[in-house]
Amino acid sequence: MKLKDKACIVTGAASGIGNAIAKRFASEGGKVAIADLNAEASQKAADEIKAKYGVDALGIAMDVTSEDQVNAGVAQVIEAWGGVDVLVSNAGIQIVNPVENFAYADWKKMLAIHLDGAFLTSKACLPHMYAKGAGTVLLMGSVHSKEASPLKSAYVTAKHGLLGLARVIAKEGGKKGVRANVICPGFVRTPLVDKQIPEQAKELGISEDEVVKRVMLGQTVDGEFTTVDDIAEVALFFAGFETNALNGQSLVASHGWFME
Ligand code: NAD
Repeated sequence: MKLKDKACIVTGAASGIGNAIAKRFASEGGKVAIADLNAEASQKAADEIKAKYGVDALGIAMDVTSEDQVNAGVAQVIEAWGGVDVLVSNAGIQIVNPVENFAYADWKKMLAIHLDGAFLTSKACLPHMYAKGAGTVLLMGSVHSKEASPLKSAYVTAKHGLLGLARVIAKEGGKKGVRANVICPGFVRTPLVDKQIPEQAKELGISEDEVVKRVMLGQTVDGEFTTVDDIAEVALFFAGFETNALNGQSLVASHGWFME
């Protein structure tokens, strides 16, 4: 049991990658707080985890762009479990458009969810980790933390920014026993990806099948999607790592789409 009784907060965990991470953590004995926009969906995901893995789980309604909601959600976790050991800042959305048509409001929304969300949740959790002298912060980056694609100016900008935030937290937190790392998935078939297939097809003037085969998987070594379970395994690897040697790093899991 790599995370026995560890208190873990996963944002955006009512769906997709975050949900798979919460389940994987629970399968290793972690207590998980599902922090997502919708109270009902968060509670449902928490109830499923409690029933399946026999660990404690909390459903928390949290918009990660609201400082008040983030602070209240983290306070709820502290009250229930007395601390927080692992934060996974994962909540995210995608909006695609060429720069010249990208609405300024959409740009600000994207940066708010991906960057402000990571900052606010880290800011709220770090004092509790410092008090314990231990903790791990995982930020959900992307291959787009390292590589660009057309139509994704705000997403690529935000995901690159997360590398910087994680490195600063690693430098500030290192002496206090806290580490920060970034997970960088390739394309994973979740609602976030399903939504952009028709949008990209329309914008690029190609078929949906071509978007999948050429745009999403064309540069992988085997034409395969990365899965939510692949990413949950990477998250567990970082969260359960036994020493603080692994700090300020980022790991790409993308079927070879991006290599470094
Ligand atoms: P998803 O749509 O399945 O899940 C995202 C979750 O985030 C949803 O439950 C949604 O309600 C929640 N969310 C959105 N805005 C929020 C907010 N303001 N506050 C709290 N919760 C909010 O998407 P996913 O594919 O699982 O994406 C999860 C993360 O993984 C995102 O950060 C995304 O950028 C990243 N990512 C996804 C892929 C992919 O191919 N799917 C690849 C690389 C990185």
